[in-house]
Amino acid sequence: MTQATFEVIRSPFDGAPVGEMPVADEAAVEAAVVAAGRAFETMRRLPRFARADILDRAAEILRRRRDEAVQIIAAEAGKPLYDARGEVARSLFNLTNAAAETRRFGGHEVPLDMDAGVFEYQTTTSSGAKLDLAKAPIDDLAALRRRVGIARRFPIGPILAIAPFNFPLNLVLHKVAPAIAVGNSVVLKPAPQTPLTSLLLADVFREAGLPDGALSVVHCAVPLAEKLVRDERFAMVTFTGSAKVGWHIKAIAGRKKVALELGGNGAVIVCADADLDLAAARCVRGGMVYGGQYCIGVQRIMVERPVHDAFVEKLLACVRALKVGNPMQEGVDVGPVIDEGSAKRIESWIGEAKAGGARALIGGDRDRAVIQPCVLTDTQPGMKVEDEEIFGPVITVNPFDRFEDAVARANSGKYGLQGGLFTGDLKRAFRAIEDWDVGGLMVNDVPIYRLDNMPFGGWKESGLGREGTVYAMEEMTDIKHLVVNYA
Ligand code: NAD
Repeated sequence: MTQATFEVIRSPFDGAPVGEMPVADEAAVEAAVVAAGRAFETMRRLPRFARADILDRAAEILRRRRDEAVQIIAAEAGKPLYDARGEVARSLFNLTNAAAETRRFGGHEVPLDMDAGVFEYQTTTSSGAKLDLAKAPIDDLAALRRRVGIARRFPIGPILAIAPFNFPLNLVLHKVAPAIAVGNSVVLKPAPQTPLTSLLLADVFREAGLPDGALSVVHCAVPLAEKLVRDERFAMVTFTGSAKVGWHIKAIAGRKKVALELGGNGAVIVCADADLDLAAARCVRGGMVYGGQYCIGVQRIMVERPVHDAFVEKLLACVRALKVGNPMQEGVDVGPVIDEGSAKRIESWIGEAKAGGARALIGGDRDRAVIQPCVLTDTQPGMKVEDEEIFGPVITVNPFDRFEDAVARANSGKYGLQGGLFTGDLKRAFRAIEDWDVGGLMVNDVPIYRLDNMPFGGWKESGLGREGTVYAMEEMTDIKHLVVNYA
């Protein structure tokens, strides 16, 4: 593939160069699409064990190159080493779990003899007569029910994967691993800030024996990415990123399938009977880790009034214990956000909330791309820090009196990705999910909790479709129903 130019990728913390990335021009992008079409014809013919072996080998190779992957993620995404290691651990599980699912993933039998009237209407005896169920001898019936329906799942074709910056390895694998598992090929457009991790991943798959062209990385400008979205040679576009871009992609994607994993403004409800130490520690991790740049990060906390002050005290103690600084240094909890522009936006949203009557209990100052972890109180719906996705180390905390009101506030607004509820009351846990429109509710944990085999996706503006290994495999296949009459 011809590559016109290279771009220097820089650390969001100090601007130091991290590496060079080939920029895909129009010809390179076209070559990737053609190669994906060709590779699909190979991939769809590979037996299950061959696809599973590729995924298992990729896991082995990534395990060997683990430290290298951690360093690249930490450097280009500005992700603290602890969390970069966590991302690689999740990626390894993502690969091995996809391999395991490849071996057992399949369709199902569809029963064809469920209804007497339809059975009679749809069947003709071997002599050509209409079936009369009331008179038919058992041998005729037994013969006539010799039909089997099998809903089989088949790969759908080349897939376009578009990824965000915040999990340059694991979120990319949420698309690439299930695609390979079911026999599709992929053209991957990584985030402009974090493309180097994708190069490493492509290298891992090459060594693992993935057929040529089955995974191409195109680091291209947005107009070329849009051209890819419109390209009818793709059977599906799977996108993770902001709601604004995601829904635009759906609008221009034409007939192809679209899966969207978008943003959120994660809410947590802390009830009076909760373990407050656990709730405070998990909320701070869930809201501040990696500068709050998680789609399922903790953004809004509602605390039952009798324990509100005690909880806030514990929350602030956990925030004070965070180490803020260079993500490449061991022990740092919170590094920069992805760029100075994002940090300025976060700073301005904090300012807007304060002007509307909110108070900062801690933090909020900015130094280039680093925002000091911030806890705001007296915030209200209508403020950006409540209604929009902040994607920064900022948490709002407010008291509530009635549980129903807390659920209603958590559920208000346009997003619905994951929620958290701390309570010992099972009734509250089971009732909450009936009214709270989220893709996942974590009881006695925060919304940031995610294992890669879980069904994952959003309600409302937060997305369309589900990821998580086997759920993405379903999205990336289509059913063909085979009916065989063997009477
Ligand atoms: P983004 O929407 O700005 O960009 C995501 C990707 O889309 C990038 O690769 C970008 O280059 C590309 N892109 C932008 N405009 C495009 C266009 N018009 N056509 C085609 N491609 C286009 O998101 P980001 O800033 O990289 O990531 C942060 C966002 O991602 C947050 O909103 C976060 O919640 C979301 N996110 C969601 C999940 C999830 O699983 N739900 C996970 C991680 C991040």
